[in-house]
Amino acid sequence: MSERKMIYLCLAHMSESGMEQKYVKEAFDTNWVVPMGPNVNAFEGDLAAFVNRRDFSTHPSASLEMTEWKDRKVVCLSAGTAAVHLALISCGVKAGDEVLVQSFTFCASSHPITYLGAKPVFIDSEPDTWNMDPELLEKAIIERKEKTGKYPKAIIPVALYGMPYDCERIMAIADKYGIPVIEDAAEGMGSRFNGQVLGTFGRYGVLSFNGNKMITTSGGGALICRNVEDANEIMWYATQARDAYPYYEHTAIGYNYRMSNVCAGIGRGQMTVLDDHIAHHKHVQQLYRELLADVPGVTLHDQPADPRYDSNFWLCAATLDPSVRIVGQENAYKEVIKSAVGGAAGVIKSVDSAITDCQPNDNVEALRVFMLEKKVECRPVWKPMHKQPVYADAVAYVNGVSEEIFKVGFCLPAGPAVTDDDVRYIVDCIKEAVEK
Ligand SMILES: *Cc1c(COP(=O)(O)O)cnc(C)c1O
Repeated sequence: MSERKMIYLCLAHMSESGMEQKYVKEAFDTNWVVPMGPNVNAFEGDLAAFVNRRDFSTHPSASLEMTEWKDRKVVCLSAGTAAVHLALISCGVKAGDEVLVQSFTFCASSHPITYLGAKPVFIDSEPDTWNMDPELLEKAIIERKEKTGKYPKAIIPVALYGMPYDCERIMAIADKYGIPVIEDAAEGMGSRFNGQVLGTFGRYGVLSFNGNKMITTSGGGALICRNVEDANEIMWYATQARDAYPYYEHTAIGYNYRMSNVCAGIGRGQMTVLDDHIAHHKHVQQLYRELLADVPGVTLHDQPADPRYDSNFWLCAATLDPSVRIVGQENAYKEVIKSAVGGAAGVIKSVDSAITDCQPNDNVEALRVFMLEKKVECRPVWKPMHKQPVYADAVAYVNGVSEEIFKVGFCLPAGPAVTDDDVRYIVDCIKEAVEK
């Protein structure tokens, strides 16, 4: 019998046609092995064409134009984190300012706020999308103004696991108070709200091409900009902020954040399969929907029935009822983790204790361990930022939703390499894990 291969959450997946290698080879052949060049320009063009493609065909409220439409521009950067950082700078965020950010997210949404000496103010989620709660958002805007005398400088909603936030309400609130929105669509590339691609509603939209996202450049990101002026400013900051003289003249602090022409070659190849990847993630979600329907205690996280929502279903997320007992549950959290759980390679700091004061329930941890033994990667959902020790002093507007989901939630494989048979096997393993 052959060894079963590990099924990962979402891995980089190159096109069958090998277009990535063709464009990368072109970069070498033409000596454009630098952070600019033909691949970068062409990738930006492809991305702009993608984000500007609106699909109102299946949307009943299609006539509703939520934003004044201009062709969006896209600037390629070295990472999605860099995109968040530069968007904040362009929105005028400075030391001491406050920025409202979704608490239920990966740290790249909020860390760049602190790079600038500004303060994240965390906003909890609504139960249906798991994303920024519009009511809490407005409450926070009003209260921060009362308490500090100033409005927050930006709002960062996040398309968690690809799910669109309520674009209509969040944009309406932001417009009412004149606060720019930076959409973190790193996980939501190609997700749509009312037919319009996420990242094109706000002043800026963040994309990520890390190895585990919808498409990859090995590592990289981009910023969707509303106009040429914003795009030029971002490009200027991304290339050390040089003024137009024959020598290096600087009137601002810049960054080395431009994308490499080699990486952009991978990105150009990946653009040829982006639509396939999105269709595949949706297909996998549909299969989980059918197969998990009769598993008691397991609830798939799905999009609202509201037809405006069109998620790319980057990862399949679900929740486990606290009453469900999982095989091996009595051993949950007995051992300190020795290596990184999850995709992000790199050094993790060793810890003395196997537990923290806010962690997934024992049955969720037992399910992770059970699935790992079955060679299936199953991961907890993101731990809310307002529960992270590093943000212990941050202001947070909470309703308990993200903390509750963190205790019961988990993620299942959904990437382009995951086959129908894999999904069936995964669901069978979950059934086996539940104690009868
Ligand atoms: C991946 C991700 C980013 C950007 O990350 P990079 O690895 O820097 O490209 C930003 N926000 C969220 C929510 C993400 O998942």
